[in-house]
Amino acid sequence: MIFDQIFDMINIGIIIIDKELKVYKWNRWMEIHSKIPAEKITGFPLFSFFPDLNNPRFLRNFKSVLTFGNFAFFSQKLHQYLFPFQAANSLGSNFKYMRQSCTMGPLRDDNNVIRYAYIMVQDVTDIAAYEQKLLEMSIRDGLTGVYNRRYFETRLEEEFERHKRYTRPFSIIMQDIDHFKKVNDTYGHPCGDYILKAFASMIVSSIRKVDIFARYGGEEFCCLLPETRLDSAMKLAEFLRKKIERNIFIFNNTEIRITISQGIAELKTEMGAAEALLREADHALYEAKESGRNKVVKMKD
Ligand code: GH3
Ligand code: MG
Ligand code: MG
Repeated sequence: MIFDQIFDMINIGIIIIDKELKVYKWNRWMEIHSKIPAEKITGFPLFSFFPDLNNPRFLRNFKSVLTFGNFAFFSQKLHQYLFPFQAANSLGSNFKYMRQSCTMGPLRDDNNVIRYAYIMVQDVTDIAAYEQKLLEMSIRDGLTGVYNRRYFETRLEEEFERHKRYTRPFSIIMQDIDHFKKVNDTYGHPCGDYILKAFASMIVSSIRKVDIFARYGGEEFCCLLPETRLDSAMKLAEFLRKKIERNIFIFNNTEIRITISQGIAELKTEMGAAEALLREADHALYEAKESGRNKVVKMKD
């Protein structure tokens, strides 16, 4: 048939399966991405080539298509893919498999009897990669790549709720680079930017994966430490203080040293809101600055 050619031209995977789940049609797109030629799969059960599809969900959908003429949708958000095909490297994403949006529906004969089911497979890897990138960008700081303030505050709120329900402890560390204005004035703004980036990656490499480290403002950073009491937070802050104090940053062959002041607070049950914790840490940070900088100060009991 002349119009059958469209079947092989279209930039979408099309499969037609019979009631026994045997492949009746397998278009060119499916051949290319599965690397299985149509003549090899036609007449054979789909599951013999794709055993993972033999799951209750897929079978339930298939049955509902054949019996009731329903349509089934397999979204990339929920399922990611139906067929494990190699993904193009889209926008630097590293998806293991092509993200697919798939639909299954009935095909009827002239008497309106459902004879077959079709599956259409659309490659949505680009869209998924774009979404992932946007999401990443919306929670991270552009300069340093660490989390931004908005994300930090969301997580802080979540941790606060968790504490209310399960009384899990958590602490925060507020950090502010000492005399940072002088770094800019002496070495220039690009050097200041470099130090902010280098500083942030030093901290990230010193904390746990569960800790949330964020740029809170210009040269102010905040670290959320789940499951951590004040004493342990103090130890970590002191370790970080020494690490930064000892480090030599090098920019354009110039050696630069910085120090940081830190304020620590642990959530107390009597604190009504997460802001109270921030306020305590902020007070402690102010104390650290007042008492000479390059210091760690904890909140008052
Ligand atoms: P203190 O010890 O009291 O904290 O002194 P300070 O100079 O660090 O504090 P101040 O808040 O007066 O100055 C902060 C400086 O941080 C001023 C601003 O130019 C600099 N800064 C903020 N954001 C950036 C940035 O993105 N890049 C660079 N290079 N500098 C920044
Ligand atoms: Mg500041
Ligand atoms: Mg400062």
